[in-house]
Amino acid sequence: MKKFFILLVFMLTISGISESHSIAVNKYNPMGTIIEAKCICGFTNEMFLGGGKLSFQTYAAFPYYCKSCKSLFVENFLAENKSCKKCSSTDILPYYDDTLRSHASNKEIFGWNVDKFTLKLTDDKYLCPKCGEYSLIFTPVGYWD
Ligand SMILES: [Zn+2]
Ligand SMILES: [Zn+2]
Repeated sequence: MKKFFILLVFMLTISGISESHSIAVNKYNPMGTIIEAKCICGFTNEMFLGGGKLSFQTYAAFPYYCKSCKSLFVENFLAENKSCKKCSSTDILPYYDDTLRSHASNKEIFGWNVDKFTLKLTDDKYLCPKCGEYSLIFTPVGYWD
C-alpha cells in the first residue's frame, strides 16, 4: 500500500511537470526560425534565430552588425556581455536598430518576444556587411527546436 502511494505521488508530480511545461510552450511559442540573409552582392548567411524548447528562457538568438570589422553575426540577446564573434569588438548593433534598415517596409517576418520587448525583423532592406549597401534581405526558410 505504501509503495502504491509513493508511485501515485510520483506520477502526479510527473504529470504536473509536463502540464506546466506545455503551458509555457504555448505561451512563448518557443520554436526558433531559420532566417536566410541574402544580398545581391553575393552575401548569404543562414541564421538560427530565437530559441528552442529547452533554451528559450536563456537563449534568444538575433543578428548583430559589428561596426568595427563590418560583419554580421548571430548573438544571444539575453547574454550579458555581447561582442563581435569575429573581432571581439563591443561596437555592435542589433539588426532591429533603426540605422541598419532603409524603412521601405514594416511587414514583420520574424518576431521573438523577450519579456515585454520583441526582437523583430521585417521584409525591409537592411545594411549589408559585405557591400555596405541597404540591399540585404531576410527571408524565413524553416524552423528549428
Ligand atoms: Zn567585429
Ligand atoms: Zn551586399
